[in-house]
Amino acid sequence: MVIQFILKVLGFLVERSVTSQIFVGMLKAQVLIFVLSLCCLKASFANGPVTDKAISDSSNTSEWLSYGRNHNEQRYSPLTKIDSKNVNQLAVEWYLDLPNDVGLVSTPLVKDGVIYFIGTMNVVRSVDARTGQLLWSYDPKVAEEIGGRKQVGWAHNRGISMFGNNLFFATWDGRLIALDIKTGKRKWSTRTFHIDEPLYITGAPKAFRGKVLIGNGGTENGPSRGYVSAYDAETGALAWRFFIVPGDPKEGFENAAMEMAAKTWTGEWWKHGGGGNSWHGFTYDPEFNTVYVGTGNGSPWNQKIRSPEGGDNLFLCSILALDADTGEYKWHYQTTPGETWDFNSNMDIVLADLKIEGKVVKAIMHAPKNGFFYVIDRTDGRLISAEAFADVSWASHVDMKTGRPVEIEGARYEDGQQVITPSPFGAHSWHAMSYSPRTGLVYLPTLHWAVDYDDAAYGEEWRGKPFALGTAVDFVEGESPRPYEGSLQAWDPITQKQVWSNPQETGWGAGTLVTGSDLLFQGLPTGKLVAYDAKNGESLWSYDAGLGISAPPITYELDGKQYLSILVGFGGGYASGFAFGASATKLGWAYGAQTRRLLTFTLGGSAKVPPQGRPVFAQPIFESDFEVDSDLATAGETLYAENFCVTCHGANAIASGMAPDLRSSAIPLSELAPVFAQIVREGIKTGRGMPGIPELSDEELEALRHFIRMKAHEGFE
Ligand code: CA
Repeated sequence: MVIQFILKVLGFLVERSVTSQIFVGMLKAQVLIFVLSLCCLKASFANGPVTDKAISDSSNTSEWLSYGRNHNEQRYSPLTKIDSKNVNQLAVEWYLDLPNDVGLVSTPLVKDGVIYFIGTMNVVRSVDARTGQLLWSYDPKVAEEIGGRKQVGWAHNRGISMFGNNLFFATWDGRLIALDIKTGKRKWSTRTFHIDEPLYITGAPKAFRGKVLIGNGGTENGPSRGYVSAYDAETGALAWRFFIVPGDPKEGFENAAMEMAAKTWTGEWWKHGGGGNSWHGFTYDPEFNTVYVGTGNGSPWNQKIRSPEGGDNLFLCSILALDADTGEYKWHYQTTPGETWDFNSNMDIVLADLKIEGKVVKAIMHAPKNGFFYVIDRTDGRLISAEAFADVSWASHVDMKTGRPVEIEGARYEDGQQVITPSPFGAHSWHAMSYSPRTGLVYLPTLHWAVDYDDAAYGEEWRGKPFALGTAVDFVEGESPRPYEGSLQAWDPITQKQVWSNPQETGWGAGTLVTGSDLLFQGLPTGKLVAYDAKNGESLWSYDAGLGISAPPITYELDGKQYLSILVGFGGGYASGFAFGASATKLGWAYGAQTRRLLTFTLGGSAKVPPQGRPVFAQPIFESDFEVDSDLATAGETLYAENFCVTCHGANAIASGMAPDLRSSAIPLSELAPVFAQIVREGIKTGRGMPGIPELSDEELEALRHFIRMKAHEGFE
C-alpha cells in the first residue's frame, strides 16, 4: 500500500501538466487516504503476538492481556475517561446473551479489539469488543470426554491466558488446550492428570516466557498429592512439574525441596496424599523470572489424621517461588504451618514496588483464607509485615521474629470441638483483590463467617475415598463475628491498616477493578455492579443486572472510548448453595430463571437490554402418596453429601441457582424414577454440568429420592 502511494505521487510529479491546484487537492486526498488506511491497519491487524513485555506494559490500555491485566496481577487500569463526575452516564453499550451458561466467574481478556472469555462447560468465545458480535466459539466437549465417568468439581472456570499467537484454557476434566487466538482452531491439547483421578480444574492457566502453568483442585475428593505443571506454549510438551508435598520416602524424592519438606511431616502422610492442590493463585514475575504459586490446604484437613505428630507440613498453605524455566525451588513462605482448618493460600498473589521506611521493596501482597494480610519481600521470601484483615480467632498475631502465626490454645480443636473464624471459606477467597499505585491501597472482598469444627467421629483408621467428599472433621456454621456476611475494604499494605470498609449483607462480593480516575468497580451477588470512590468507598453509581454477579470487571479503550465489561452469571461456591450464609438461597436466582450475559458499558451507551426474569423461589412438590422411609432418607443424606450433590444442589437440597432445586423438580418424583436413574447414574445430563455416579445401586438411588422427598415434604407437615 505504501509503495502504491509513492508510485502514485511520483506519477503526479511526472505529470506536472495538471494545474497545481488540482495536484495539491489530489495530493491532500491521497495523504488523507494513506493516513486513514494506516489507522485501519492498526485497528484491524494487531499489536502482534503476545509477549511478556506486552503483558507487563501497564500503558497498553486498549488491551487486557492476562488474568490480573498485567503480570503484576494488580487489576489496575490507568484509564481515566470514566471518572467520578461522569460515571452516572455509564450505560450498557452492548450485551451478549449466554442462555446455555450457568455459573460465570471468569475474567475476560481483550486483544486487538476482540474480547475473549471462558464460560460454563469451558466453552471459549471470541467477541467483537466494540459491538458484542460473536466471532467464534470453541467447545472442548467436556461431557464427551467425561463419558459416563464419575467426576468431581465444577463446570465453571475463572479464566484464560495468552502467549504468542495462542490462547490457553483448562477443562474441568483436566485438559490444557491451546487455540489460535485469531481463528479459535485448536493447536494442541494435553492431559494434566488421568481422567480417572478425582481432580478437576477451575483455574486460569498462567502463560509466561513460552510456557503455560496449571495446577488442579481436589484436596477434599480423596487422597491427593498436589502439583503444578508447566507446558511448552507452542507444543504442549511437559516442561516441568513441581509437587507441592512429599510422597512416600521409600520411593525417593523428586528433588532436594521434597526431601526438605518430608522432614516437616509425620506418620504415613503419603497414604492420605497430603494435599496442597494449587487450584488458583499463579503469578509470573519477569523481574526475577520466578513463578509464585499459592498452595492448597491439607488432605485431609484434619492434621491429627494427616500428620499425627504435627509438623509444618511443607509446602501446604504457602507461597512457593519457583524458577520459571526449570521449576526449581527458590524459596517459600508458609502462611499456615501445620494447617488443620482448610486455610489454603490459593488466593491471588499481587506484585508491587512499595516504599517502606524510605526503601523501595519488591513486594508480594497476599490475603489468604486465614485472615492475615501478608507483605513479603519477593527477592527472598522474607516476611515484611502481617496483620489481621478480618476477625481471626485461631492466632493472636504473626510473630515478626519467627515469621510464624502465634496460635491460640484450642484452635486445633484439640478437645474435638472448637468454633473458629475465619471459616473454611476464608476471610478472602478467589475473588480478586486489586491494587492502585495511585491510592496505594488494596481493594479486598472480605468474608465474615465462623465455623464449628468437630472431629469426635474420626480416628486414626480414617481413610479418604476417591471421588467422595472427605475432610476428617465435621464442620457446621458457627456464630458469625459480624452482623453482615461480607465487606469490601480498602487496605493500606504499608501501614497494614484498614482505610475504609463497606459492610455487605450478602457474602462473596466479586473481584475488583480500580482505575486511574480512582474509580473502584465491583459486582455483587445481589446483581448490582457498583462504582465506588476508591479513596473513601463512597458509592457513586450502580447498575442492576437482575442476576447475581460473581465475576470481576475489566476495562479497555478503543477509538478513544473507554469500555467496561463484566460477565453476569451467579456462580462459584456461594451460588452452588453449600457455602455458609443462607442469604444465597434468598436472592431468587433460580436455575434457568434469569439469563446469563456479557455486559459492556460505555459513557452514554444506548443498548436496550431485555429485562431479566424475576426472582424465583422454589416451590417444593408434595408427593402425597410417597411415604418417606427415614432410614433410607438418612442413607440418602450421606450419599447426597459424599457424592457432591450438595456442591451444586445446595445444603439440605435447597439450591441457590447453580442447579435445579430438587425439592421442586419433577425428576425425583416416583413416576419419573427411571429418568432420575438415567440422570444420576448414567449421566445423561453431563452436558449441563451433572456427571453420572455409575456405581450407585438401585437402593442407593432410592435412598437419594427418599432424602429429596423428605426435604421437599418438610414445609407441608
Ligand atoms: Ca480446600
